Amino acid sequence: DRTFAAMKQAMAPAPVNNVATAILTRRAHYDALVVGAGFAGSVLAERLAAGSGKRVLVIDRRPHIAGNAYDHADAAGIMVHRYGPHIFHTNSDDVLAYLSRFTEWCPYEHRVLASVRDKLVPIPINRTTLNTLYGLDLADEAQAAAFLAARAEPRAIETSEDVVVAAVGRELYETFFQGYTRKQWGLDPSQLDKAVTARVPTRTDTDDRYFLDKHQVMPAAGYTAMFRRMLDHPNITVETGVEFADCDVRADHVVFTGPVDEYFGHRYGKLPYRSLQFRHETHDMAQFQPVAVVNYPAPDVPYTRITEYKHLTGQVAPRTSISYEIPQAEGDPYYPIPRAENQALYRRYEALADALPDVSFVGRLATYRYYNMDQVVGQALATYRRLAPRLASGLAE
Ligand code: FAD
Ligand code: UDP
Repeated sequence: DRTFAAMKQAMAPAPVNNVATAILTRRAHYDALVVGAGFAGSVLAERLAAGSGKRVLVIDRRPHIAGNAYDHADAAGIMVHRYGPHIFHTNSDDVLAYLSRFTEWCPYEHRVLASVRDKLVPIPINRTTLNTLYGLDLADEAQAAAFLAARAEPRAIETSEDVVVAAVGRELYETFFQGYTRKQWGLDPSQLDKAVTARVPTRTDTDDRYFLDKHQVMPAAGYTAMFRRMLDHPNITVETGVEFADCDVRADHVVFTGPVDEYFGHRYGKLPYRSLQFRHETHDMAQFQPVAVVNYPAPDVPYTRITEYKHLTGQVAPRTSISYEIPQAEGDPYYPIPRAENQALYRRYEALADALPDVSFVGRLATYRYYNMDQVVGQALATYRRLAPRLASGLAE
């Protein structure tokens, strides 16, 4: 039980500003107001405070910090991720080094199985997937490659359908990708940018890891504990449960990490974001499924995947907690939807954003990019590097 002590520490109540402090601080003047306490906002807040000595107010409309990476102990004492499985992986030494100031890590390599034709098989598709699904005995990479080449339909690659059909052919595409993608995005893969399904490679070896990044680790005491340390600075005040629209503080600079179209009052119409419903359950068994995530591509099942959190954290307990992800159009915005017409609409909002020198738009929602956590951290650090010289020349004075 490698993380138990660390997790117990993480479960201690978060330091919360009391009401009197909240009222006082809201009357005050800040060098920077950061909207959103997720990766984008928390990294900028930490850098502005610790790197540039600025006084920063961080607000979030949710009752907690850490944005979509928020984790906590549920009623059964199991560490879960409220907004679905968050697995940290990066090729960036710099991003890892930066976050390592605020957390220790546990090694974790993510493995996913797909439930198809009453079997659990590895996804990304690899040689084991092919052998299990078709009862074959493909012995090496060359044989697996030949099997796929006989089915692949080479074509110009523009959409998320093209990526997969060109690599593995129509049958495997329909089995693993078409139903899952239609559920996840409410669109056929042919209506989505190639980048979406290109996140999932095809392999001819038997490597069944979901990611191949150089660094694959989980924060030892959890994400929320890491964020707490990031935001624990005398120059940073955090107020959760606060809407940007209701916040009348004065600040020289604003960092906005919410949806960019919302900032501009949906002036050009709503930018589409895909939402999810998370159904959390605790079961009276030590283990629910063999790996952390099982994908369900079948169209007749409403959810896309089931996550069992103990696999991610290493926690040992007699019971186990899982979550189902049921995609939906309405609700909290979780995913920008990568396709040309949405990108065109985003560009119009981006032009409005670029015209505001005193507001930085950062993160997955504010820059409408399907970014992983490490990419958001990299983007936030780059934003800080651009801002820092301006700040040094007295933005806040
Ligand atoms: P967020 O985390 O969304 O933070 C934005 C914050 O701003 C929110 O807390 C929101 O409440 C607040 N906010 C917005 N508007 C306002 C307002 N007007 N007033 C006040 N507060 C406001 N990445 C990985 O690297 N690995 C994974 O395994 C992974 N799995 C994921 C699984 C799911 C289901 C989802 C949805 C995402 C996953 N991600 C994963 C992506 C990861 O969640 C994001 O890259 C990262 O959390 C984005 O950080 P952010 O700060 O840009 O946005
Ligand atoms: N995908 C799929 N079947 C799978 C896994 C992924 O069709 O078994 C497609 C789907 O469109 C999904 C995209 O590939 O949205 C990216 O998958 P990833 O696991 O990276 O999604 P995320 O973790 O970001 O939700």
